[in-house]
Amino acid sequence: SERIVVVGGGLGGVRSAERLREMGFDGQITILSAERHLPYHRPCLSKQIITGEWTPDDSLLSFSGDLDAEWRLNSPALHLDPQKQSVWVPGGEEIKYDGMIIATGVDARAMGGAPRHDPRVHVLRTLDDAVAIRRNIRQSQGLVAVIGGGFIGCELACSIRHMGRDVALIVRSPALLGGVVGDDIGKKITEAHVEHGVRLATGVGIKHWVRQPGGIGIHLSDGQVFFASCVVLAVGASPAVDWLRGSGLDISDGVLCDSTNHVVGAENLVACGDVARWPNMRFNGVVRRVEHWLNAVEGGRAAAENLLVGRNHAKTYTPVPRFWTEQYGMRVQGAGLPVLGTDTTDVNGLTGFIANGKLVGIVGLESPGKIITETPELFRQNTVETNVPVWTQPEPAAA
Ligand code: FAD
Repeated sequence: SERIVVVGGGLGGVRSAERLREMGFDGQITILSAERHLPYHRPCLSKQIITGEWTPDDSLLSFSGDLDAEWRLNSPALHLDPQKQSVWVPGGEEIKYDGMIIATGVDARAMGGAPRHDPRVHVLRTLDDAVAIRRNIRQSQGLVAVIGGGFIGCELACSIRHMGRDVALIVRSPALLGGVVGDDIGKKITEAHVEHGVRLATGVGIKHWVRQPGGIGIHLSDGQVFFASCVVLAVGASPAVDWLRGSGLDISDGVLCDSTNHVVGAENLVACGDVARWPNMRFNGVVRRVEHWLNAVEGGRAAAENLLVGRNHAKTYTPVPRFWTEQYGMRVQGAGLPVLGTDTTDVNGLTGFIANGKLVGIVGLESPGKIITETPELFRQNTVETNVPVWTQPEPAAA
């Protein structure tokens, strides 16, 4: 019978595999995962896992009991030959496939100049990373330094304050959350961090690091020095595509797909989640990756459907991307692609992002209902045929 190999045992991987079964695929499904864990919920890593409100087991995702997949944990794909339709795993084993779904996500980016191989310096992407950070924070006494003011850096600073620990948040850009939420909400978030006692350094670079037995000295471009017992680098992520080198696929900033999740230049190959770069026809075909939870769910399902029906019958994948972040009990939600905006405007109390006179994104604070009602209305103007539901509530974790 036929075999579909899913590469990546995270959210996109498991949701696409489930969709294969829902669509009636009764061949073999093999899921290759680089990690030793079954799929887990990543958003809680910077939140409930750091604070200890959830145990690692609480983070495990529930998935269909009818999946009947062969799970190969600790078994990263090492090389792909799209012509032969073969993938190689450790031990030199070659696995042939009739169809493949690529869902390898992203890896936390390293930071030039930061100490490497120092157990006090972390990145955050995996459950094991989160557990190591929590352990390090609990075993040390001093300041925790978080580098980077994006979603993960901000959430980490909040969670570590919640643990009652001293935190410095060191950010190169002048404001938190960069251009992603707009100036007004960015300002409110920034104020909340300061009110809750985060030592905030924005608009600064790091000149050098000094490793000492009692901690790590972080010397900033404005002359400030922080001495931290634990450091977390939250400076972005890069697509997990090393295993695709030599495959002939376009892997500049992720795996390049067409508008229907099919990988450009290969047959029977689709990609989804954080690693996939594709032209979203709802936004004039802008070719981008989207690193949000819901895109892994929706894109995973769409990729599975489009793999089974084949390229000629595939539907365009044209989601309105959506995201959320929680800090100090405040919930920020967004829709669309705010990063494309060159200007902002007020939309019924939400921040609207405008590019070329068109609305490309909205972000709201404590207004989930409004985001839901405004989203279809606001994006109808750009809409082409879509297989994506208008809004799905974030899925609860297994616990
Ligand atoms: P992943 O979940 O990263 O899964 C990819 C899997 O593939 C990983 O297990 C990886 O190890 C594995 N892999 C990599 N290379 C290989 C290989 N060669 N062979 C086999 N397996 C491989 N999004 C939100 O919308 N809201 C949030 O609040 C939010 N919070 C987040 C907090 C944190 C700390 C993090 C890290 C992410 C957060 N996200 C959030 C983003 C969201 O979790 C991701 O968008 C989502 O997990 C992407 O799913 P994915 O399946 O594409 O990738």
